[in-house]
Amino acid sequence: MTNFFLILIITILLPGQISIPIGSSNRQDTSKIHLTKIGHFGLVRKARTNVPEHYHTGIDIKRPNDNYESEPIFPIAKGIVISKRTDGPFANLIIEHEINGIKLWTLYEHIAGVKVNVTDIVNSKTPIARFMNKKELDRFGWQFDHFHFELIKVKPSKIKPSNKNPERFYNSYSLTCYCINDLNKYYFDPIEYFNYNINK
Ligand SMILES: [Zn+2]
Repeated sequence: MTNFFLILIITILLPGQISIPIGSSNRQDTSKIHLTKIGHFGLVRKARTNVPEHYHTGIDIKRPNDNYESEPIFPIAKGIVISKRTDGPFANLIIEHEINGIKLWTLYEHIAGVKVNVTDIVNSKTPIARFMNKKELDRFGWQFDHFHFELIKVKPSKIKPSNKNPERFYNSYSLTCYCINDLNKYYFDPIEYFNYNINK
């Protein structure tokens, strides 16, 4: 009973509580997030076919353990799903949040096994998708053995859904940040944000 009231009080006092987006025994422990070698926010990504040089607008979070079948991905806080793309390695979800009175958006990309739909209300305990499994990585490439997470300051831009992706209503600004000003206009550095908002 005591534990119950303690949790209740904590929940009331921290209405905008943020959790890290991966499974962990303590989702308030930001040290549980490990990034890939080139997964840091703001790194310059070299031009490749059809993609000009740009800034990395999110972080690439490593799989937290060796579960290559069903490793879950969670929202960082309560929100509403506003966009869903499910075709191949660039599958993603965008969630709109209001955290401590401020609107912001999160994007989860290179995900698989998407479990939610647009207009679904989710919270930090809702498994929304998972990391790609072995079979998918063999098919799409092991460079996708992580998930790309973005924390967006400006409402994502509206796009017209296609037959292939009837619930893909928004795009983030991933490939449109060609200078530091753009990056800072549209994005938070997720690690800085987590450190400030979780480890207070
Ligand atoms: Zn990335």
